[in-house]
Amino acid sequence: MSSFNNQNNGLNNTNNRYRNNRYNDNYERRGGNGNGDRDNRTRFRNFRRNDDRNQKSQQENEEKFNYARAAKELMDRDDIMCTEEVISNACDKFENMGGEDGLKEDLLLGIVALGYLEPSRIQSYAIPQIVKRRDILAQSQSGTGKTGAFLISALEIIDPDLNAPQVIILSPTSELATQTLVVGKSLAIRMEDVKFSYTVGGTDAVKNIRELGGVHQGKADEKAAQIIIATPGRLIHIMNEYPHLFQHIKLLVVDECDELLTGSFKDEIKKILEGLSNNVQICLFSATLNNDVVVLANVILNNPVQILIKKEKMTLDGIRQTYVEVQHQDDKLKLLIEMLQTIQVPQFIVYVNTKKNAETLKLFLEKDYSVLTINSGMSKYDRADIIRKFKQGGYKCLISTDLLSRGIDIQQLSLVINYDLPRSNNIECYIHRIGRTGRYGKSGLSINLVTKYEKDTQNIISLTFKCPIQPLDQDLIKDL
Ligand code: AMP
Repeated sequence: MSSFNNQNNGLNNTNNRYRNNRYNDNYERRGGNGNGDRDNRTRFRNFRRNDDRNQKSQQENEEKFNYARAAKELMDRDDIMCTEEVISNACDKFENMGGEDGLKEDLLLGIVALGYLEPSRIQSYAIPQIVKRRDILAQSQSGTGKTGAFLISALEIIDPDLNAPQVIILSPTSELATQTLVVGKSLAIRMEDVKFSYTVGGTDAVKNIRELGGVHQGKADEKAAQIIIATPGRLIHIMNEYPHLFQHIKLLVVDECDELLTGSFKDEIKKILEGLSNNVQICLFSATLNNDVVVLANVILNNPVQILIKKEKMTLDGIRQTYVEVQHQDDKLKLLIEMLQTIQVPQFIVYVNTKKNAETLKLFLEKDYSVLTINSGMSKYDRADIIRKFKQGGYKCLISTDLLSRGIDIQQLSLVINYDLPRSNNIECYIHRIGRTGRYGKSGLSINLVTKYEKDTQNIISLTFKCPIQPLDQDLIKDL
């Protein structure tokens, strides 16, 4: 943490005063609290009616709308800790966000095309603040629409006519970066001038450089990507060699910020901050934030708005959390096989703590059952292939390490099994793992397989996040 405390590291200096003025100027110019007028609303309704080309079937949209309502109720106002400023600027409609002109029209069309009829709670709180160009530390439970919150904001603030990268969105894994890219491209489907660059390790670096407007082995691309979706390593690599490509960056989004700001990524994030202008706006997002991250965020961010969740509300009520106690570690395999034979849900994820456990389980199961495994020991291409196969629905069970515990959105997933409970020094993982189910207001079930030695860790999890974990009642599986 101390390395971020350095007064020279960028964001903590006199330029911040300039930034504050700029925010205020922008805010006033854009028309105060961001509430739009009746014209905007009418315009949006017309978009909805006219946008036949991309519109989903009415039934599908109604379903999404109901989930949106349910998600809002789950993330109740009383669960959130934020200032009055955030609440009074919150927008319940996409068409009213983005200052006096509302959001860009072609962006609104993309939002509708994706079936987002109303903003989720985090979207209604965070987007107006980001668009007002405030730094933000935002926490919201898994599956409640964080990705949409920062992507819609990014698409709103970029200048499509400026031929230079303007926004960086950082993810800890290439899997999450891929998902962000897919959602970003869907939201921007009507924004013909908007380009994304997927700047992650294991992909073609020369292509990345060209996409960002750099000249390497020939020409730069005619049009530079305005939005860079990146993992830290590849981004730093390009920043070191082509620092000038980043001079127009005005927004840095750090997704899963608790993971990226601490541990092995910490120094990389520091380097990235050093490579950007002091005036860059920074937005930090995660479902889990501990005190260290909040303290660190306050050092990095400039006069930030905070949207935090009370600790006892970090897991959503829609996810039933249960456990089955076993005598020995070996009994877990028998139990899992029984589950594979009897559980009727189309798909579930089984989490283990190590690559070795993932591979061993797969060896035992793959002959008789449709299982896949994924872990960081596999190549990026193989990993992408596994996720694609699982999302297509052909496999019932995915055995995964924590590589896939954060952010990954698999709509049809209603069950998560913790074959190994997360280690006691990494209990946040539990929140992320179970958050793969119960997405956007849907219900879900998590089952921990625990030996008596793991009961203590389970108790710590239950006490820390104030979430009851009950013995499994078989009827819950039938209800899935
Ligand atoms: P996220 O938390 O960003 O991973 O989003 C979780 C799920 O919610 C994804 O499947 C999104 O497609 C969906 N979602 C996000 N925002 C909305 C919205 N405003 N309306 C309907 N669905 C949404």
